[in-house]
Amino acid sequence: MISNKPMDIPCSLQERKILEKIALAAKDLHLPAYLIGGFVRDKILGRRTKDMDVVCVGDGIALAHKVAESLGEKVPVSFFKTYGTAQVKWNELEIEFVGARKESYRQESRNPEVTEGTLQDDQNRRDFTINAMAISLREEDYGSLLDPFNGMEDLEAKIIRTPLEPSQTFSDDPLRMMRAIRFASQLQFTIVQEAFTAIQENAERIRIISQERITDEFNKIMLSPKPSVGLDLLYKSGLMKIILPQMVDLVGVEMLEGKGHKDNFYHTLQVVDNISQNTRDLWLRWAALLHDIAKPATKKFEPGHGWTFHGHDALGGKMVTRIFSKFKLPMGDKMRLVKKLVELHLRPISLTKENITDSAIRRLLFDAGDDIDGLMLLCEADITSKNKVKVKRYLENFELVRARMKEVEESDRIRNWQPPITGEMIMEIFGLSPGRVVGDLKTAIREAILDGEIPNTYEAAYAFMLEKAKSFNLTPVK
Ligand code: ATP
Ligand code: MG
Repeated sequence: MISNKPMDIPCSLQERKILEKIALAAKDLHLPAYLIGGFVRDKILGRRTKDMDVVCVGDGIALAHKVAESLGEKVPVSFFKTYGTAQVKWNELEIEFVGARKESYRQESRNPEVTEGTLQDDQNRRDFTINAMAISLREEDYGSLLDPFNGMEDLEAKIIRTPLEPSQTFSDDPLRMMRAIRFASQLQFTIVQEAFTAIQENAERIRIISQERITDEFNKIMLSPKPSVGLDLLYKSGLMKIILPQMVDLVGVEMLEGKGHKDNFYHTLQVVDNISQNTRDLWLRWAALLHDIAKPATKKFEPGHGWTFHGHDALGGKMVTRIFSKFKLPMGDKMRLVKKLVELHLRPISLTKENITDSAIRRLLFDAGDDIDGLMLLCEADITSKNKVKVKRYLENFELVRARMKEVEESDRIRNWQPPITGEMIMEIFGLSPGRVVGDLKTAIREAILDGEIPNTYEAAYAFMLEKAKSFNLTPVK
């Protein structure tokens, strides 16, 4: 046993066992080793964490192999010789090993020149003081916190500060600007003024960072407890203008004839926060972020009436595709969901009016399908009025819509409904090959059922189809 002295961070028994093994392996190889970075930070904060980062003065890959060996026979090690890093996966845990290093950067790239260094050199290259704290795994001071930049104080004060000069830190690796804002949003910390000013000055340099890394940090902001914190910082730093300029177009209020409209940027941020209180689903949060994205492009002033944004739902749907592609987000089901919610986000509101027919309810259920619950969450989040009486009334209206939808769904089962006559059947009955007529007939049948014009049965649909086919000069071939 290396030591049974208590550690400066709270660890589970399981974690202590692993750390002990790492310490023993490091001792065998005569390598001073330390826990560092996110694990130390998160343990002090009491956050859940699965990744351990270990730095050693010497060969990190050799240490990783030795540790893997002591953990069991077939514990795999993946390593990158060029970077001197290695990873050991053991049960739920991922342990990252690296040799302590010193980095020097050149202007045009975020890849530094790397040379071997001391623990202090390695702490210098860390992005924030709260991420530079280390816990010794050496026998002589096992478990002690090594905190040259007072990260502990900053954790207590909830501030984000760079160990070295901020402008240099952000210019060297501009991804750190996104990380600063992400931590501010995740941990609800404040970025010190000097560092924030440095981000504003270096914002342009984000262009040398790959979209994947930017998107990764952006999504972490979207998943934070109150995403508006990070989104507003992205705006105020000038980064939003570069990475997602369509969001910045939402900023501001225009006045004409004494009539203004709401600031759609801050409205959107509120909608994202609102939905985040009810769901951790990243894509529903994205739908909230983009629901009004086409408002600037569709904005018009109608004299005597006021501002309108006609068609911002449909155009918004198109913009979702473009933004997902630029952000390298998945273009399949996730994109389709966000697009659909943006396109449909005004529909439940129109159902809160009086005298709504069952067919209007059926139509929305059909169009939204299984995404109806997400859509209702979005619509409820979209209520950002400061007037409590209004908010209450709007929410009650949506409750009524929900109740009506439940009734209609129970009697008609429309959510996953398919019309009783398919395109294939139409082609077979009339001896047609695929083409517009088939589509038109299929749509006509579907619409007639959704409108309640005919019952939802095969017989009724068949009779309706024969009637309709006459106007296309079609007769059944059998
Ligand atoms: P999380 O795991 O929640 O994303 P983290 O701080 O652990 O947060 P990692 O990407 O796992 O982030 O990195 C581990 C550690 O490596 C960080 O705590 C920090 O010390 C250092 N680090 C990561 N990225 C950078 C960077 N771009 N510049 C400087 N140091 C970095
Ligand atoms: Mg980590």
